[in-house]
Amino acid sequence: MSDIEIPESHPRYQSLLTRHRIEDGVEKGITSKQGLIAQGRGEAFDYLLGEQTIPSADAAERAAAAHLLLADHPVISVNGNVAALCPAEIGDLAEAVGADVEVNLFNRTEERMQAIADHLHEHGIEQVKGLTADGRIPGLDHERAKVDADGIGSADVVVVPLEDGDRAEALGEMDKTEIVVDLNPMSRSAQVATVPIVDNIMRAVPNITAHARELRDASREELEAIVAEFDADEALEAAEQAIRSGEGGE
Ligand code: ATP
Ligand code: MG
Repeated sequence: MSDIEIPESHPRYQSLLTRHRIEDGVEKGITSKQGLIAQGRGEAFDYLLGEQTIPSADAAERAAAAHLLLADHPVISVNGNVAALCPAEIGDLAEAVGADVEVNLFNRTEERMQAIADHLHEHGIEQVKGLTADGRIPGLDHERAKVDADGIGSADVVVVPLEDGDRAEALGEMDKTEIVVDLNPMSRSAQVATVPIVDNIMRAVPNITAHARELRDASREELEAIVAEFDADEALEAAEQAIRSGEGGE
């Protein structure tokens, strides 16, 4: 189904658009059926947040931009949901901060890896990593540990949207700065992140890019100050509060 069939005036336009993209992703062999369940879980949290970027998430997105601009080797990890939802926006972010893009799947099959790489190419991302799989994340079973040695394997800053808790934890133990996008502030992935972004990936990625563009000429000192000012526990607490108080809702 194409995006055009939903009228933009529909009050739940963004939410419906997101569902259609995930559905399309499953049809194209990009997104797994498990990905549908993950999307449903995310939607529930987004509903409670009022389907908006709360101020603490915006601050996290700005801190993420600063980390990415300071990084020696930033990598953006892409799974089947991310590829289906915002491929062009991932390309824009990669370009704005000079990051590599690497495909990483929870249920890795070579067929799906290739389908995602092709889909990203179609959306303008020329170089896609993840297919070489000559590196390993310690502490994970064989299939889920696979990464590219010159990609996530040697990254200092990784963006892991919608990552599962185990791998988020293992990456954190590798001493990498981890930027997690996850609508559930109680998820293990969000809890272990250096920068947890509690926001929908559809809003988070373009907003990190906007911050990165705005900070393009900032000095190292300015960027380091933004990084130092950000407090992960406070951000998680603020997100939980917004969900519990229903402030986000209408
Ligand atoms: P844990 O991290 O506690 O181990 P999990 O990783 O097993 O949990 P999943 O349901 O597999 O949980 O992960 C999907 C996560 O991605 C959920 O926390 C969900 O809120 C989040 N999510 C789903 N869709 C989106 C989206 N569009 N934007 C941001 N986050 C999303
Ligand atoms: Mg999780």
